[in-house]
Amino acid sequence: QAKSKGKACYEFFDIDMHFNAVKRLQLETDLRVALKEGELDVHFQPVIDLTDRTIVGFESLVRWNHHEQGFINPLDFIEIAEETGLIIELGKQVLTRAIHEISRWRQQNEKFSQLYVSVNLSPKQLENPELTNDIFSLLSETKLPAYCLKLEITESILIDNFDVAKKVLNEFNNAGIEIMLDDFGTGFSSLSYLHHFPIALVKIDGSFVNNMFQEATDLAVIKSVKILASGLDMEVIAEGLETEEQFSKLKQLNIEYSQGYLISKPLSGEEITQKLSTGSLNW
Ligand code: C2E
Ligand code: MG
Ligand code: MG
Ligand code: MG
Repeated sequence: QAKSKGKACYEFFDIDMHFNAVKRLQLETDLRVALKEGELDVHFQPVIDLTDRTIVGFESLVRWNHHEQGFINPLDFIEIAEETGLIIELGKQVLTRAIHEISRWRQQNEKFSQLYVSVNLSPKQLENPELTNDIFSLLSETKLPAYCLKLEITESILIDNFDVAKKVLNEFNNAGIEIMLDDFGTGFSSLSYLHHFPIALVKIDGSFVNNMFQEATDLAVIKSVKILASGLDMEVIAEGLETEEQFSKLKQLNIEYSQGYLISKPLSGEEITQKLSTGSLNW
């Protein structure tokens, strides 16, 4: 009896795995088409200066409105893109879009000339020998100053690919493109290696901000990251800002910047253009 039940479970599991594999393959095929047809979109989330609440820049976040499944979580299709190599094309499209948008926005008003856009880079992109050339070409095509583009990477890139990361990140840094360390606190957080890399900004993962009043350790992490960053001459961005209480606390801790639903969710390019047309950087 137990044996036959076990077998039934096994078969069920097998079908389930098969189903997932088929679904994944279909998604890969669809993603390939979407990239070819230019169906991916990019949204932009404002980042504010916590001292005066003004917008200093925008994070680019890829969006895919699948014809059958609707909006798919970027983390799901980025994983597939990363595994299939499609991330190179995806990344190029996001970089191109982001750089062109920020070029237009900063020309809308003299007050906007210091605004930047940040772009998330995956490990495969950083290993792509054409990345630096692609980015420098985009900057010269659009005549965008290097300080208007920032690149977000995660800790795992630094650990898994120390030498390549160091070389490429130094090239960007020497050209004036600042590097941000994303999702800080969620990885290994072996802080000792950070000084090997030219990191200008550390982004504290939203999960810490989310729980800062419920979990003493999360508040402790935020405080420690701020102390560490100051010691290494880096600035801090707190992600996932959702309440006024969090805003006040982060400001009190002298965290420099923040982003989150309290200020704005990620918006389409057209929505950002419209908001900026008011001439204000206080939304
Ligand atoms: P991330 O880079 O850490 O981006 C922040 C995520 O937090 C975004 O999710 C954003 O929509 C979400 N978020 C912003 N404010 C709040 C808030 O107040 N509360 C909460 N709960 N969430 C907030 P999203 O857009 O779903 O992106 C998820 C992840 O996918 C990103 O995390 C990033 O790792 C990756 N990703 C997105 N776009 C790209 C891309 O173009 N290239 C690469 N390589 N990765 C990307
Ligand atoms: Mg990011
Ligand atoms: Mg992040
Ligand atoms: Mg995150």
